[in-house]
Amino acid sequence: MKRVLFVIVAMLALTSARPPKVENIILLIGDGMGPAQVTALMQAQGSEPINMERATVGGFVKTSSANNRVTDSAAAATAFATGQKTNNGHLGVNVNGEPLETILEKAEKAGLATGLVATTYLEHATPGAFYGHNADRNAREEISAQLQEAGIEVTLGQVKNLAEATGEALTVLTGKRGFFLMVEGSFIDSAGHDNDPERLLKEMRDFDGAVGVALDYAETHPKTLVIITADHETGGLTIPSGDENFLLPDSGIEFEWGTGGHSAVIVPLFVYGPGATQFGGVHENTEINHLMVKSLGLK
Ligand SMILES: [Zn+2]
Repeated sequence: MKRVLFVIVAMLALTSARPPKVENIILLIGDGMGPAQVTALMQAQGSEPINMERATVGGFVKTSSANNRVTDSAAAATAFATGQKTNNGHLGVNVNGEPLETILEKAEKAGLATGLVATTYLEHATPGAFYGHNADRNAREEISAQLQEAGIEVTLGQVKNLAEATGEALTVLTGKRGFFLMVEGSFIDSAGHDNDPERLLKEMRDFDGAVGVALDYAETHPKTLVIITADHETGGLTIPSGDENFLLPDSGIEFEWGTGGHSAVIVPLFVYGPGATQFGGVHENTEINHLMVKSLGLK
């Protein structure tokens, strides 16, 4: 009797310790999307919530690279892709230039399907870090050759409509043994570099549309984990009151930019799906990789 009880207790302990099953991960990266960029879209939408607000868990990501408190997209994407910090300019390699295995490569090895979707070309820093390995992010020819050899099932670069492309990618990836899909809103960053609020809102709307498609998918495919974050903030954007006396009614949306480059500001994290709660709180960008690898049960 005692022994039976022990077995039951042990089984219960095992079941509760096991994280919920994740078969698919959709990672959406808004390049250059800091907290103010998200707020800008919220303000522009008025009372209508944006798709990112549908996430059930929130947090922040610390973005510094190995050699700079202000990261570039190559080092930041390498952190998400490989779980290691590297120097700015390095793509899928460590500080010594040695190649690091990426989550996409691990997924391929485990027999999962993979996909990359971006509004820029796929050899660019953010998508490039998921399959490419080069100490120079601008070595486009070599990175392009690595893309051809990576065996990625869905490669949609320079897409016009990120939501549509995300839907297309999901149609192809569904029904496989599980998948890892990375979707990048690439030009939020360019809008920040240009300090261009109109373009920023256009690119944020495009990205949030893709977020909506991913969340719709996760609602009907419950083993899908959706992670929405950014590699860094671009432009040092803030949204001050249009009137110094903010006790007055509506002051209008004002945009003020602090830089034409990137900033060190922490970036938002929104998560939805099985095991989302472990993503809550403040994380180094490398920890996002560790949590994704663990969630998919990859080695
Ligand atoms: Zn940039």
